[in-house]
Amino acid sequence: MSEVKELLQTIKPAVRNLRAYSLSPLHASVKINQNENPWDVPENVKAETLRRLDARPWSRYPEFVAASLQECLADFASWKADGVIAGNGSNELIQSLLMVTVNEAKRILISEPTFALYRQVATILGGDVVSVPSTATFQFDVPALTEALRDSKPEVMILCSPNNPTGSVIGDDDLKQLLRTAPGLVVIDEAYHEFAGQSVVPLLNDFPNLVVLRTFSKAMGLAGMRLGYLLAAPQLVTEVRKAVLPYNLNVFSQTVAEVAIEMYEAELQPLVKRIIAERERLFAELNAIQGLEPVASRANFMIVRTAVEPRTIFNELLARDILVRDVSGYPMLKEYFRFNVGTPQENDRLIQSLNEIMDKQ
Ligand code: PMP
Repeated sequence: MSEVKELLQTIKPAVRNLRAYSLSPLHASVKINQNENPWDVPENVKAETLRRLDARPWSRYPEFVAASLQECLADFASWKADGVIAGNGSNELIQSLLMVTVNEAKRILISEPTFALYRQVATILGGDVVSVPSTATFQFDVPALTEALRDSKPEVMILCSPNNPTGSVIGDDDLKQLLRTAPGLVVIDEAYHEFAGQSVVPLLNDFPNLVVLRTFSKAMGLAGMRLGYLLAAPQLVTEVRKAVLPYNLNVFSQTVAEVAIEMYEAELQPLVKRIIAERERLFAELNAIQGLEPVASRANFMIVRTAVEPRTIFNELLARDILVRDVSGYPMLKEYFRFNVGTPQENDRLIQSLNEIMDKQ
């Protein structure tokens, strides 16, 4: 039997060189490090979900194709039901989409800083990741992206809008230009679109190379239930579906997603509006603190430039039972930390704590 050290030679070098996508295991009573919804889903959504689950035998597999959920998602997003795939979180669909498009010698274009998973999965699949930095104000550098599309001819470009972690949004005219220039697919990860109040979904009608990813983990408050979805031309969806495992979605996720859609306007949308209002209040309050520079965001989180080390801010906040994200290891973000909007009481605690911490410096 070989030594483990030798066995490691079986792992692709590109994978061994990667650092695993990970998250701090720390906990705090004000937990604002994962861009979650600070409010649990309303009782009515839970009660109706449990009622439907109780009426169904748990011994049976879910439907082979989650047809009723797909219909709901299509209706909700105003797109075709055969152009929808539901996944176990949008993470799964990022992986499935890249599995059917990327191998050695294929290029994937991203704009950084952004969600780390795109680079991670593309690299594991052997792809060559081409990265274009954001502008100094963290906007998408559309001329540079256009040039990279022409020069590198990537099979896939992935942009996150609103972008995690910067909160910036790609405008429709800019996106149309990129869609016209791209030789391959253009994926827009809209995980946070509800907080921006805009979506690129209407462009699906005119651009067959557009793929849109969405999730129930943020505005819908269902991160624990794991549900994401992909919207694209039906012929593309047929291909991507080949990389999705059978029964990827459990019955619980399917059921709660349907209920959440039915009750979205009455139960969930009001919470989204409160998060947006709190985001604006936080921006103004933090902007008034000497030594902090928040970056305006269209999502439910924002990055903040700090005159002291981000690690110091992280530790000082943790000592006050508040957990934020130290993003100083991301490209361009050496001086930044990120937090997501909490409940009004949590936000008050964050503002007060940051005032204290910066006063001491
Ligand atoms: N895309 C972006 C931009 C994200 O920030 C996240 C979660 N942090 C995801 C996708 C993954 O979401 P899900 O919970 O649906 O897998």
